[in-house]
Amino acid sequence: MRAELWDIAVALYKASLATQEEVEKWNRHAMTFASHKLENNVLHIDVEDEYLAEFYQDLYASKMRFALIQGGADENVQVKFRATDEARELAEMKRQEKARAEMKEMPAAATTEKFESTNPFFSNYTFENFVKGPSNSFAYAIATAVANSPGGNTNNPFFIWGGTGLGKTHLMQAVGHHIMEHNPDKRVCYITSETFLNEFVNSLSTKTTEAFRNRYRNIDVLLLDDVQFVGGTNNFQEEFFNTFNNLISRGRQIVMTSDVPPRKLNRLEERLISRFQQGIVIEIELPSYETRLAILRSKTRNSRRPVPDDILMFIAENIKSSVRAVEGALKLVEQFMGSNPGIELTKQTAMVLLKELTEEEVTIRRLSVEEIIKAVGAFYEASYADILSASRTQPLATARQVAMFLARKLTGQSTPTVAAEFKRNHTTVIYGAETIQKRLSVEPKLKRSIEMITEQLGRKPSELFE
Ligand code: ADP
Ligand code: MG
Repeated sequence: MRAELWDIAVALYKASLATQEEVEKWNRHAMTFASHKLENNVLHIDVEDEYLAEFYQDLYASKMRFALIQGGADENVQVKFRATDEARELAEMKRQEKARAEMKEMPAAATTEKFESTNPFFSNYTFENFVKGPSNSFAYAIATAVANSPGGNTNNPFFIWGGTGLGKTHLMQAVGHHIMEHNPDKRVCYITSETFLNEFVNSLSTKTTEAFRNRYRNIDVLLLDDVQFVGGTNNFQEEFFNTFNNLISRGRQIVMTSDVPPRKLNRLEERLISRFQQGIVIEIELPSYETRLAILRSKTRNSRRPVPDDILMFIAENIKSSVRAVEGALKLVEQFMGSNPGIELTKQTAMVLLKELTEEEVTIRRLSVEEIIKAVGAFYEASYADILSASRTQPLATARQVAMFLARKLTGQSTPTVAAEFKRNHTTVIYGAETIQKRLSVEPKLKRSIEMITEQLGRKPSELFE
């Protein structure tokens, strides 16, 4: 592989990420890639075990593929994560080196031990910086109640769910900040579910499960972010279940977030899901125009050269998909003002500046798997139940695979989530989608049908071939 192709692809991928959190996540993960090699148009990335390989495959393969193509790779390039012995040995070696280094750094006399959160807190994710509105007021109320008396038995666990960029992490960290400030002796841990899972997997391979267990059972407030990524092996679920019960039964507080409600966490065992529902489950919804505007005003409150209010109104009117998107638009405007101090920012200019973002807004309507199944069913004259059925007769089998293909392309949901909606396992969905992908290039009629369904769903066919 051209030496720089990998670097270019990584740079392109990182540039596509919206938040610092995501970049940090990628950096953490990329550190665990032992090596990468392009062979027969397949980019192999070696990692230490099957579990991670599968996990990264879901998370990165298609995005990396896209970045590689953008970076100049062949259109048919594929990305495959695999577990190899060399990668395992390398990881083992690194861990030993790290352990040795840490031994050396250890101060002779232990100073007062301060509990450290696993993943960092963001200093601005506080209650003071969180704007209340009808879309989040219930979640906000429970969050403040939990922050004031963590570990009670009514709001425990506190489960917050909702679309990306709506403020789940912010609110969860606000709970943590508040507790750390008012109860400095409480051990408050913020951790993403991926890190949690990785730490567990590592603890297995280094035979330090006991230490892992001790750490997480000695926490007073566990803030577990993005539990939709939890899945995996039975022994992890077992460990998680036991830790969970252990904490709750001893009056420790658990707060979780997810992009779906508990009952849709289909990679998890039923007993975990029902435990999640025993406290309180609350959705954060899309903010209204007024809330979007209030957020914009609050974010510009202290700026030296405030963005004119009519521009804020323009953003609030046009950017609706998430708070993160609203913030993105504001950043663009602020950058423009910063680098053009002499120019007055008119609505006209803002319109041009934000053209790309506002256009995306129209297309980024979040489609559900259900909507896709229905649209495909309507096209092929099959019912929802037909599509989910086991029948392999044509054209039903094709319709089902088309639905799988579109669900993977258009919903932005992970393959396991899509698979559960189809009541199939995730290899079946991958196989179905790939079958369609192959047939598309040789069957113009099928391609045309899929384009029509996509248009029917209010999306652009070009999105399918990106
Ligand atoms: P999620 O975890 O739901 O994907 P985040 O908590 O990361 O979303 O929020 C995305 C961005 O939007 C963050 O910068 C956050 O500070 C901001 N944000 C979200 N909701 C609010 C709110 N109600 N008030 C102020 N900022 C918000
Ligand atoms: Mg989040």
